[in-house]
Amino acid sequence: MNGEWGERRLCELCLKDFSLKERTAFGVGGRAKYACFPENAGEFADCVSAAKRENLPVAVLGCASNVIVSDKGFDGAAVFTAKMNDLSVSGTSVYAACGVSGARLTEFCRLHDLSGAEFLYGIPASVGGMTAMNAGAFGREISSVLSEVYVLDGGVKRLLPAECGFSYRSSALGSSLPVVGATFSLKRGFDEAAIEKIRRFRRERQPEGRTFGSTFKNGEGYFAGALIERAGLKNYAVGGAAVSGVHANFIVNKGGATAADVRALIAYIKKRVNALFGVTLCEEVRYLGEF
Ligand SMILES: Cc1cc2nc3c(=O)[nH]c(=O)nc-3n(C[C@H](O)[C@H](O)[C@H](O)COP(=O)(O)OP(=O)(O)OC[C@H]3O[C@@H](n4cnc5c(N)ncnc54)[C@H](O)[C@@H]3O)c2cc1C
Repeated sequence: MNGEWGERRLCELCLKDFSLKERTAFGVGGRAKYACFPENAGEFADCVSAAKRENLPVAVLGCASNVIVSDKGFDGAAVFTAKMNDLSVSGTSVYAACGVSGARLTEFCRLHDLSGAEFLYGIPASVGGMTAMNAGAFGREISSVLSEVYVLDGGVKRLLPAECGFSYRSSALGSSLPVVGATFSLKRGFDEAAIEKIRRFRRERQPEGRTFGSTFKNGEGYFAGALIERAGLKNYAVGGAAVSGVHANFIVNKGGATAADVRALIAYIKKRVNALFGVTLCEEVRYLGEF
C-alpha cells in the first residue's frame, strides 16, 4: 500500500496521496487525496461521514473495473471496499458484503450447491459495484437475483430491490447511497455446465489484458459494439488506448495509455457513430475526477 497515514480528523483508516492507477482494471489515472479501506460497516460509515463532514467528495470503489480515473487524480476520498468480504448462507439465501468478488461468490455458491448467480461468473467486480451498476450478462441482471440490499443511509438500512431504482446498468445506489452488502435469493443445484459455457464464451469473445468491459451501453434496437465495428473502428487507437480487435465495444490499454487517451478515443467513437448512424452512444464506464 502506498501513501502515508492521513489526518486523524478525516479518519484513522485513511491514507494520503494514494496512487489509483494500479488499483484500476484499466491502469490509468492519478492520485486520490485520501484512500480508505474499511473492514466493516461501522468503519465504512465512519470514512464516508468523516469525508462528508470535511466537504470532500467520496468515491466508493469495489474492483475499479468500470472506472476511468482522471490523469489529474481525484481530489477527494476513495473508499475501497475490498476488505469487506463477509459471506454467509442461510438455506438458499446468500449474504455477501459489498467487497466480495464475483469469483468468490461463485466459489461460495459452488461449495453450497446453490444456483442462480452463475451468469455473473467472469465479471471481475465486487458485489457492491455490480449491485450499484446493476451488472448483467446473458440477458440477466443482478437485480433479478437479489432479495435485499443493505445501504449506508444515516445508519445501515435494508432496501428491497424495488426501492433501489434498478434499470439497465444503473440504479439509485452509488457513492451517495453506498451498498454495504446484498442478499441473493438462489435455489439448489449449482450449474457447473453454465460456468463452463460462460468461461468459453468470454475466452473467445472478449479481449485479454487491461480493459474496463463494455465502453457503451446498448440501446433500443442496436448493439454498441456492432455500430462501432460497422464504423470501421476496430483497432483504432489514440495514444495507448485502442478499440479492441476482438470486441469493438471494449477499449484496451495497449500499454502506456492515459485517461486523456481514453477520453479522446471515446469522443471520437461517439462522433463517428453519430455521423454514420445518427445514434448517440452513452457510456457505461464511469469517470472519476476532473476531465
Ligand atoms: C473484462 C471485463 C468484463 C466485464 N464484463 C461485464 C459484464 O459482463 N457485465 C457487466 O455488467 N459489466 C461487466 N464489466 C464491467 C464491470 O465489471 C461492472 O460494471 C461491475 O459492476 C463494476 O464493479 P466494480 O466492483 O469493479 O465497481 P467499480 O468499478 O469499483 O465502480 C463502478 C461504479 O459502482 C460504484 N460502486 C462500487 N462499489 C460500490 C458500493 N459498495 N456501493 C455503491 N456504489 C459502488 C462506483 O462508485 C462506480 O460508480 C466488465 C469489466 C471487465 C474489465
